[in-house]
Amino acid sequence: MTKVLVIADIKDGALKGSTAELVSKAGEIGAETAVAAIGSGVASLTGDLVQAGSSTQYIADDPGLELFSAGPYAACVVDAARQFGADMIWFGFSESGKTLAPRVAARLDAACVSEIIDVKLKGDQVEVTRPAIANKVLQQVKINTGSLVAVVRAGAFEAGEDVSGTENVVQLSPPETDARAVIQEIISDAEGEIDLTDANIVISVGRGVKDQDGVNLVKELAHDLQAGLGASRAMVDGGFMPHNTQVGQTGKIVAPSLYMAVGISGAIQHLAGMSGSKYILAVNKDPEAPIFNVADYGIVGDLFEVVPILREEIKKVRNQ
Ligand SMILES: Cc1cc2nc3c(=O)[nH]c(=O)nc-3n(C[C@H](O)[C@H](O)[C@H](O)COP(=O)(O)OP(=O)(O)OC[C@H]3O[C@@H](n4cnc5c(N)ncnc54)[C@H](O)[C@@H]3O)c2cc1C
Repeated sequence: MTKVLVIADIKDGALKGSTAELVSKAGEIGAETAVAAIGSGVASLTGDLVQAGSSTQYIADDPGLELFSAGPYAACVVDAARQFGADMIWFGFSESGKTLAPRVAARLDAACVSEIIDVKLKGDQVEVTRPAIANKVLQQVKINTGSLVAVVRAGAFEAGEDVSGTENVVQLSPPETDARAVIQEIISDAEGEIDLTDANIVISVGRGVKDQDGVNLVKELAHDLQAGLGASRAMVDGGFMPHNTQVGQTGKIVAPSLYMAVGISGAIQHLAGMSGSKYILAVNKDPEAPIFNVADYGIVGDLFEVVPILREEIKKVRNQ
């Protein structure tokens, strides 16, 4: 039986939804699934890991692992993969996942593929699918080594309902400190803001909002819906939005339940970052704007009129 080791995505001490999505997909392809959780205080997440559907939980819980550091974290993943006899190791689409995957693959002499959106088992053969060239093509990649390390694109898989695993905890020994690079502190410039890659709703502003007043108008809508506020590159380059809010090929890849593009034309580089969203709603005054080609719902109109109406209507629905 194929064995898949999923590396848990943990943020601020909580398990992110992507972990259950990866575990569900592993179950769907008929694999035995283990999860590795690495950090400080992560043993308390064991129940969540079981509930996500895993049959074994590898736990590396050590105060020295409080801050992410590639060397020690990779050592823990390799240890768990060897003990489990993993054929595949799957990371979620996080900065740490993207950093660790090539390191782990090199140590295990495994193939490494990033941004996968599908996995198929054909007998012993593993085949993965990934978008390339800003989503213009899909590549089918046949894996010719015995093992694969993959980074799964955000929103590629769905978490199953009513899944649950079995508790079988294996404690990993804390790895030696990597003295070559020691992370002392992580300084966040987005304190208190909703993380775009986690948000259930993302509302992005484009050049159509014109200036800071336009950004603030849309920000109020985002606040009403507890949505993350993203931006097109035009807004970032123009100095209206911080760099970490850029969605697209050279920004973040997001896959929320609802993505609202407000005053965004829908350039291919922008679509590369949001086309995996479940529902897309676009507000644009130009009925020919390419964003409408990918939108599930479109509002053709002036955003300065549409956004206040949307806020009013949302308020009415909430008060019913
Ligand atoms: C190598 C490379 C990488 C790139 N990476 C990215 C990336 O990661 N992310 C990204 O976003 N872009 C990226 N770009 C830039 C991209 O090509 C576009 O230039 C950019 O996305 C355009 O941003 P925009 O849609 O906000 O602006 P525009 O294309 O100018 O569109 C503005 C839209 O607003 C509408 N509008 C104007 N006024 C109103 C109004 N009052 N009400 C309603 N609608 C209105 C207009 O009809 C128009 O469709 C990249 C480009 C290159 C070359």
